[in-house]
Amino acid sequence: MDIKKLVKPNIRSLRAYQAEEIPCRIKLDANESPYSAVSGQRSAISFQKHLQALNRYPDPQAASLRKLMAKELQVTPQNILHGNGSDELIYNLIAVFGGPVLYPVPTFSMYGIISQALGERKIEIPLDDRFDLDASGFIKTIKRRNPKLIFLSSPNNPTGNCFSEDRILKIIRQSKGLVIVDEAYQPFSEKMSFIPFMKKHKNLVILRTLSKIGLAGLRVGFVIADADIINELNKVRLPFNVNSLSQKVASEALQNKKQLRSDIRLIISERKRLFKELAGMAGVVTYPSDANFIFFKVDNGERIYRNLLQKGILIRSMKGVADGCLRVTVGTPKENAAFLRILKQIL
Ligand SMILES: *Cc1c(COP(=O)(O)O)cnc(C)c1O
Repeated sequence: MDIKKLVKPNIRSLRAYQAEEIPCRIKLDANESPYSAVSGQRSAISFQKHLQALNRYPDPQAASLRKLMAKELQVTPQNILHGNGSDELIYNLIAVFGGPVLYPVPTFSMYGIISQALGERKIEIPLDDRFDLDASGFIKTIKRRNPKLIFLSSPNNPTGNCFSEDRILKIIRQSKGLVIVDEAYQPFSEKMSFIPFMKKHKNLVILRTLSKIGLAGLRVGFVIADADIINELNKVRLPFNVNSLSQKVASEALQNKKQLRSDIRLIISERKRLFKELAGMAGVVTYPSDANFIFFKVDNGERIYRNLLQKGILIRSMKGVADGCLRVTVGTPKENAAFLRILKQIL
């Protein structure tokens, strides 16, 4: 029996996402925070308490977590839905609304992968030479093909920049479908969140995640949208999609805002230092970042990627996405210093 023949054609041509673990001493490849958001003694004690309640299913509505996040973002809990990471919410959005799905490239790979997994048409428009949105390309495509969903990661992964506000707004105004502004990296940006624009634009949807601010292992993300959109998403959301430990630990983290804020501040100041150092190296072109990583270009990206790995430092190679480009996550001051020192040696 040939299993391949049983598989739907759109899945047959897909390849499993490469999230393999590469052994390394310093891990700067996945845009994680170098600091756990719940590392204190108090968390360890309450963790014990949560373990004893594991015979029960989690709260399907994640009521207290949603309430805390709503307060943090100044929206109402009816406008928030929780996901097992924001990846899951991207999946739910595409499952509910379908395609065509429009997004710029290069960007977060899951928009395209999930579209294909669900058999939906995808449309990709290259970013301009400043990694900003090609507004006229978007408007033309919106008029011609009427995409149901438009995904804009701002700050954009992997380029690090925010798209210009007026271009995003123009796209929101022109689109008859939903425009999803994925704000996974917004906490690291000096630019404004798009959440305030939701009042005026019902088709604007925001994605947030705890993954980049110290809780990647928990798998907790959020979609913020009009209540009518949330109701539709709830039809396809699996009832117990965020487990009870994740709900509890995430709630604790959101209550300890001081810790979250100071970790983010430290990462931002390290990003500025890293940027300055990289920009000063001969043979390196750096791009400004509003995120917790830096996108840069070197002469032989693959060679430098491999040389760094040999020295125990794992960053991300952008081969096939933006050839010759590399993406490095901001780590602890010590990790960043080691990265800079070894990169200098290699160059
Ligand atoms: C990392 C990332 C996410 C992620 O997601 P989780 O599933 O919440 O870990 C979403 N969008 C972008 C642009 C990302 O870079």
